Amino acid sequence: MTTDQKTTFRQTKIVATLGPASCSEDVLRGMFEAGLDVVRINASHGAHEKDEATIQRVRDIARTVGRPIGILYDLQGPKIRLSDFEGEPIAVAQGDEIRIAVGRPSEQGEIGSDYEFLDQDLSVGDLILIDDGNIALKAIAVSKGLVVARADNAGLIMPRKGINLPGSSISAPAVSEKDLDDAYFAASLHVDFIALSFVRKAEDVLQLQDLLAARGSSIPIISKIEKPTALEDISSILQNSWGVMVARGDLGVEIPPERVPVIQKQIIAAGLKLGRPVITATQMLDSMTRNPRPTRAEASDVANAVLDGTDAVMLSGETAIGDYPVESVQMMSDVIRYTEQNAVRPTFRRRREDVLESTPEAVTEAACQVADNVGAHALCAFTQSGSTALLAARLRPEHPILAFTTNETVRDRLTLVWGVRPYQIRPTHMTDEMIAELDKTLQSDEVASVGDLIVLLMGAPTHKMGRTNLMLVYRVGSWSGLEGPGHFDDEDE
Ligand code: PEP
Repeated sequence: MTTDQKTTFRQTKIVATLGPASCSEDVLRGMFEAGLDVVRINASHGAHEKDEATIQRVRDIARTVGRPIGILYDLQGPKIRLSDFEGEPIAVAQGDEIRIAVGRPSEQGEIGSDYEFLDQDLSVGDLILIDDGNIALKAIAVSKGLVVARADNAGLIMPRKGINLPGSSISAPAVSEKDLDDAYFAASLHVDFIALSFVRKAEDVLQLQDLLAARGSSIPIISKIEKPTALEDISSILQNSWGVMVARGDLGVEIPPERVPVIQKQIIAAGLKLGRPVITATQMLDSMTRNPRPTRAEASDVANAVLDGTDAVMLSGETAIGDYPVESVQMMSDVIRYTEQNAVRPTFRRRREDVLESTPEAVTEAACQVADNVGAHALCAFTQSGSTALLAARLRPEHPILAFTTNETVRDRLTLVWGVRPYQIRPTHMTDEMIAELDKTLQSDEVASVGDLIVLLMGAPTHKMGRTNLMLVYRVGSWSGLEGPGHFDDEDE
């Protein structure tokens, strides 16, 4: 890796939500070129046919750009909404009585809702928040099929707006029929991740995992943390998820907003400890939905998530419906790069007294240490399942982690992981052949030049998964396959 490439290597990944503003070929390509790593498709808004075409377009562009792009399909989960209605938004004054029809269309003087358990889950005195908390109501009468509530503040109620019931426990199933249909659809298209919204407990994740497994799919699940109950079960949710998203939009409605920054830091720290990727999401560059430049507070928000150690930061409305989708990705990339290169980074290495649980962990940690000591250009990990790359990323080394896998799916999943640049290589059986393959890839992709030192991590036997037990300090270009196994030019050692 040349000095220039090393200094411009961005470790924190960028996820962008697709929508009407960003599904066209030109905008998608512009976003990829600006540094996008993973696209998010929101199942709440889409239709399968349209989503399938979008996924195909993303893959075609990834192929022509020559860089893998991850695809995250985000299930709606038990999101509660007001029904659609015709005509003008409903103006509400403080103290007004609002009549909400339960899981049915509205009659005269009512507003409809799509949630059949509203009368079951609410009691008199409970809070009902409409439109991300912009209108707060308090339930004053609950009867079968009807909830009457009083407005705490004035506002305009628009059709299809979300309803949050902080403090109430929700009876809706974690995986609705729509979610399941969407999950099977996503699995049939082999997307890289499925996100589950409004996870309440680890069993919700396990339920989706089992349902997918019954159809032969093991797509990684990203649990969206946006309910107070999820915070109570966070370690178990993390253990059972591939990764998590700090979904600050709904989270900041369900709990007081002042708690969100600390919770974000706690979730990122917990994810790092367990080696579970964390996406920090929502309103990161919100004003760029309308303006070409972010507010300084937004730039700081992105930078702070980077310093917290998040794996990825996410754009939502900015790229889905905004006027500046490409500029938003570019701005996010610029803020990340500047922060990574100029801020004093916290160290995430293990404390001496922490016990390492496995040989792969111990070898990976040793490799990071050696990479520092020899001034290596990069850590290179041969990884069948992606786990070695995840282990290395968890230590947040200074060096790029170049992950080499024979598996296209694993390559694409690693697009979301901090610091990892994934490559697909052809399958080989001998260690020597693997190194030759790596050497060729490094030089042809210009991520390393002849003479650069790298630290290699691999497992022997090579075809076994989760067996990282070898570390090798290697000088690029020094492999000489004709001399038989294990011959490396060691003139500099
Ligand atoms: C959020 O609430 O922050 C979030 C990411 O979820 P969604 O965009 O699906 O509401």
